[in-house]
Amino acid sequence: MNIIMMGAQGTGKGTVAGIISEQTGWPQISTGDIFRKNIEEGTKLGIEANNYISKGELVPDTITVPMVANRLNEGDTEEGFILDGFPRTIEQAKKLDEILEQKNKKIDMVINLTTPREETIERILTRRVCSNQECKATYNLVMHPPKVEGICDKCGAPLVQRKDDSSREAINKRLEIYDSQTSPLVEYYSNKGIVRTEEVSTRINRLGLDVATDIIKGIKGE
Ligand code: AMP
Repeated sequence: MNIIMMGAQGTGKGTVAGIISEQTGWPQISTGDIFRKNIEEGTKLGIEANNYISKGELVPDTITVPMVANRLNEGDTEEGFILDGFPRTIEQAKKLDEILEQKNKKIDMVINLTTPREETIERILTRRVCSNQECKATYNLVMHPPKVEGICDKCGAPLVQRKDDSSREAINKRLEIYDSQTSPLVEYYSNKGIVRTEEVSTRINRLGLDVATDIIKGIKGE
């Protein structure tokens, strides 16, 4: 099954995508993670992308779209994949349609996560990620803290705060871009009848794990 994860920053897209990926074997393709890995490795793509990411701006399509197209050519996507962070604009969605059409494939489900805005900002500010790019585990200092402060439970590497998570300015910019450019995608995919909207919020005591569990049950037909 081919899935797109949608939702503003801090709604838990990465967490939900990670759990579904673990349970189904379909790879989680996070454009943000691919960029961060390239930045850490100092590749040309990473250096270029960092100019935009550090300011909270979108990386241009000339860089992002071929990167995703190449990733979708890899054999592990044959049975299914979970796109996390792509597409982020209508333009990117149309390009994705073209890429998939050439492969006789289509998007089967769009999971749209919603969370009250005050909660998302709080979650972004308290998010910590594993510095080991092969691990990439995500924590939250309030809702899901590591067992030992500052250390990843899974691999023991130090936890860090993403640079674009520590600047209020970059956070606001990213949320602004989400509202103006990414959220119209919900309508784009609703017209195709494939959107499943789920609220993730402490207000209703429903977190990413609950949503992922329900979605997996649906996929497995339980
Ligand atoms: P994320 O980890 O999804 O929050 O992405 C981190 C940053 O990477 C974003 O703020 C953008 O600068 C960049 N980025 C990730 N995905 C895309 C995309 N589909 N198009 C353009 N820029 C992206």
